[in-house]
Amino acid sequence: MKVGVLGLQGDVREHLSAVEAAGAAPVVVKHPEDVAAVDGLIMPGGESTAIGKLLDRFGLSEPIRKRANDGMPLYGTCAGLILMANEIVGDEDAPHRLRLLDVAVRRNAYGRQVDSFECDLDVEGLDQPYRAVFIRAPVIEAAGHGVEVLAERAGAPVLVRQGRLLASSFHPEMTGDPRVHEMFVKMVAD
Ligand code: GLN
Repeated sequence: MKVGVLGLQGDVREHLSAVEAAGAAPVVVKHPEDVAAVDGLIMPGGESTAIGKLLDRFGLSEPIRKRANDGMPLYGTCAGLILMANEIVGDEDAPHRLRLLDVAVRRNAYGRQVDSFECDLDVEGLDQPYRAVFIRAPVIEAAGHGVEVLAERAGAPVLVRQGRLLASSFHPEMTGDPRVHEMFVKMVAD
């Protein structure tokens, strides 16, 4: 089972290691033909405006959107979540989005870079709390009926699932705890 990691910007290497730790074969995805060769795809955090532009420039937006619509599991972390969101609230837009997930997000709404933080989350399906790292993270302000909330913090969803789409406002690749990646790998295997 091959799990791709979008290799345009962000914590690509860390996600590749986490995919491996979760028991799947990690593959870097940079070109349209790479999208066809994976069973699932992770979009790392970074800067969503930049990643969105690169997705278009590398001709990746359409292939990813099409495969996700056809049922390929897709996991977006932080900026990846922003790129999956149907709606952006607030002043900072994120153009070139994929618009796949029925959520409304506000960019950078947990504060500035210096306000990045960690906390323990209770995650649906995990026995022990999950240590989550938030870096200039987006807040999910609203989620549609088809969106399952798997974890929340201060009343806002931070890990959500809609069918075969998974998204988190935190960075699961930064703590060496593979459990969220395992959850995604299981979605890919099912
Ligand atoms: N602040 C970034 C954005 O709005 C997201 C940050 C991240 O991915 N860690 O695109």
